[in-house]
Formats: sequence, C-alpha cells, structure tokens
Amino acid sequence: MQSDLHKIIVSPQPLSSDHAKVFLYQILRGLKYLHSAGILHRDIKPGNLLICDFGLARVEESDESRHMTQEVVTQYYRAPEILMGSRHYSNSIDIWSVGCIFAELLGRRILFQAQSPIQQLDLITDLLGTPSMEAMRTACEGARTHIVRGPHKQPSLPVLYTLSGQATHEAVHLLCRMLSKRISAKDALAHPYLDEGRLRYHTCMCKCCYTTSTGRVYTSDFEPVTNPKFDDDFEKNLSSVRQVKEIIHQFILEQQKGSRVPLCINPQSAAFKSFISSTVAQPSEMPPSPLLLLLRPHLSNTLLDREQERLSPSSIVCVAFHWRAGLAGLLKNETNEENPLITAL
Ligand SMILES: [Zn+2]
Repeated sequence: MQSDLHKIIVSPQPLSSDHAKVFLYQILRGLKYLHSAGILHRDIKPGNLLICDFGLARVEESDESRHMTQEVVTQYYRAPEILMGSRHYSNSIDIWSVGCIFAELLGRRILFQAQSPIQQLDLITDLLGTPSMEAMRTACEGARTHIVRGPHKQPSLPVLYTLSGQATHEAVHLLCRMLSKRISAKDALAHPYLDEGRLRYHTCMCKCCYTTSTGRVYTSDFEPVTNPKFDDDFEKNLSSVRQVKEIIHQFILEQQKGSRVPLCINPQSAAFKSFISSTVAQPSEMPPSPLLLLLRPHLSNTLLDREQERLSPSSIVCVAFHWRAGLAGLLKNETNEENPLITAL
C-alpha cells in the first residue's frame, strides 16, 4: 500500500523505537546520496517521504552572490536561517528538516507547530536559545531586529527528553547534533543511534544486499554517494515547454540505444485490466496503434501528432509509465531484468 510518513505518524499505529531508527536511517541514507550529487531537497517533510517529491529540488548554489528563492520548505520544517530571510543557504537546511521529522517520530507531534513564520522563529529560539550575531550574519534586518529586541533566551535542549520514552540519551544526542550543530547526513549516519536501523534495513529491506543458502551477503558500501555531481547545465538553454518536450524525447531515444531491453505491456499484470478499461481513453480518440490508444491521454496532441511516426512503441510506453507511475507492475521486459529506462525516468 502506498503511504507517506505523515499518514503513518498521525495514524493510531504504534511506532516503536525500531521504527524511528529504520525510518531515520533511510531518510539520511537518501539525503547523503542527494547531497553528494550537490542537490538540496529543500522541502523535506513527512508527507514527502516514501512518496518522493523532488518538485522543489535544485542544485546547490556555491556562489553567495546569487540569490536563491525563499519559497521553499513547509513552514514547520523550515530552518531558522530561511525564516530569518537568509538568501543563501546550504544542505544544512535539509538536515534541519530531518531533525524536525526525527523529533516528530519520537514524540508523534510536530516539533515546531507555529501559526506564522515569526512564531515559528520564536518556538525555535525557545529551544535553541537566542542565536549569536555571527549566526545571524546573513539574516535580513527585520529578523535580526526582532531577535535583538526580544528577551535573551538560554537553550532548553533537555526538554527534548520529554518527547517520549523513546527519547533516550542516544536519540537526543543525535537530535541535538542535527538541530544545533547541523552535522552532515554522512556524520549523522555514523552516529551509534543508527546502527540498529542500518542493520535492520540491510538485513531484510534493501536491494543492495542479498541472501544465499549460506547467509546474508552485505554490500561493501551501505550508504553510497554519487560521482560525479549532478550537472544541471542542460537546463540553462531551456526556455519553453516545447524545448523541454524535445529534450525528453531525445533522452528517451538515447536510452534506447545500445543493449537496453525494450519494454512491452504485460497483459498478465494485475493492473492491466484497470489500465485497459480506463475511461480516460475514449473510442473516438482511437489512433491507429493500440499502444497509442492507451497513451493518448498522457501525451499532448502536439507531441502525439508530431511524434507518432518517430517514437517507437517501447519509448512511448516509457513516457506513459512516467505519467502513470501508479500502475507499477504493468510493464515487463523480455528478460525480466530491472529496466534501466524505468529507473532513469
Ligand atoms: Zn543492503
């Protein structure tokens, strides 16, 4: 069943410390990989976990003179530097969000649930204390004035022990390191609190290790990074939807070259019946190819008209798969190998 971490946290389902450990481990494992590619997620929140949302993701900006949008991150999980109007931020904003989620997993309630950005900042300073002038170096004037004119607050981090019985010394230690020190995802993963989560994940949940008749064979790299970093240069010359469509088309064609296995629709799939009887494709829309019948609702007319001759059936299926990702299991390939094209899309 498809779900997300928000639904799980607000559900009555009991969550043990093992749950918290394995959830946090997986979040940090993914974040380490993302940050190694030079990408900030910028909108990490429970509702975005398990169901991926990279809609606001962008490449890390190394030039401080270039401003980055502040329209990021749901307020409850927003790092204080963003709340204070900083126009340059780093991957530590994602660590902040994950720290908030960690606290939420332990306490089953949102750590900083405020009605406004100002109140959000006040709740944060209640816990972490008044920031130093150095820490507010990149803050906007208004936010700095708000902090300076307010009461001077001492940190009250021990209050984190009251989140729940699962807030052990180890858990609170890691949580503090994430919220106040903003350690990297890599360093967080090295914390002893996550040892059990790592073991549990790689014993029965991962795809990087496998079991043989003699036992479990573990990967040599539990938390891999990517190399080289993600290159977003291709975006720089894109200025219209038409260009974006064109580049997607080119990408698909390039993926088809070489020894990659073409995809086909699997009529034996459990999802096939609902897919074929879907009301989104009307008989009057029926194009010559049965494949295109299935795919018409998912491709713009322009794309269909222009590309009908050029797209091979398998590439069209891939496009449709992208649009209809909910129909997992509908596609198969002849060798049953994991198809790199699906992975790529
Ligand atoms: Zn593994």
